[in-house]
Amino acid sequence: MSDAFLRFWGVRGSYSAPFRTHLGVGGNTSCVEINTGGHLLVCDAGTGIIPLGNRLMEQNRLREMMIILTHYHWDHICGLPFFVPAFSPDWTIHMFGPGENGQQVEELIAAQMKAPYFPVETGSWMAAIDYLDRARGRLHYGPLEIEYQSVHHPGVTYGYRIQYRDRTIVYISDNECLFLEKSIARRYQEFDRAEQALLDKMQAEEKAAELKLIEGADILIHDAQYTPEDYATKRGWGHSCYIDTVNSAIDAGVKTLYLFHHDPNYDDATIAAIHEHSQQLIRERGSDLECLVAREEMVVEL
Ligand SMILES: [Zn+2]
Ligand SMILES: [Zn+2]
Repeated sequence: MSDAFLRFWGVRGSYSAPFRTHLGVGGNTSCVEINTGGHLLVCDAGTGIIPLGNRLMEQNRLREMMIILTHYHWDHICGLPFFVPAFSPDWTIHMFGPGENGQQVEELIAAQMKAPYFPVETGSWMAAIDYLDRARGRLHYGPLEIEYQSVHHPGVTYGYRIQYRDRTIVYISDNECLFLEKSIARRYQEFDRAEQALLDKMQAEEKAAELKLIEGADILIHDAQYTPEDYATKRGWGHSCYIDTVNSAIDAGVKTLYLFHHDPNYDDATIAAIHEHSQQLIRERGSDLECLVAREEMVVEL
């Protein structure tokens, strides 16, 4: 394996799903490691960050990392109370997520570790935790350049575009593709001509912003939580139907798409069917997009 790699530690959305029928894909919630050899960047801190933390303690090599959070829903932070490096004085952890400033990020993370919900508060973390201010703009970490942008998901949620040498990795765990377009489409006829013109403009702007964030990515890790049947009853919940994810990736000239944030109700067979249909859609559109299912413990060389 080359020095630089990406590893999926948690690929589930909503809640962990450690069921026998699901373990081919994996049951842990969102966590992706991007490791350049000298620098370690962790995207989200779902339950997948727990085995990552244990591995880092065993390896006893690195002493510093950066964790970037897309948002503070449980499935993205619930591994932190059990993340052993945070409790070790040997570690420095740079922590970033949505918030006015570093202090607010700290408060948002601390809130889930308070009595009576959890017996140990973030005050007992012995690592040097550096909560980063949004005011610093784009983030730099060693050879990694990290940009972020709000996406369509309840509350403020970021999508991250990460540059490593000549490789672009985009991580968007929770996002409802073309949210506005889909919301408006159902009621379009209720608006007059002038309103429709304005809505058309807003939709075009939305689509352009979405495509820009993922444009030309070598690796796109994107929310693909629902089948069309489930999406029909969960529109507006902030997650994508996999068909929209695949089409957006094709439109944006993405090279490899990893379907991510799998619904906890979907077993391995259901996700295999989603994958097969995705590949069929790609063939029908004459695209050379590579599409894979993000699976726990999958490693991608960078
Ligand atoms: Zn989520
Ligand atoms: Zn969420």
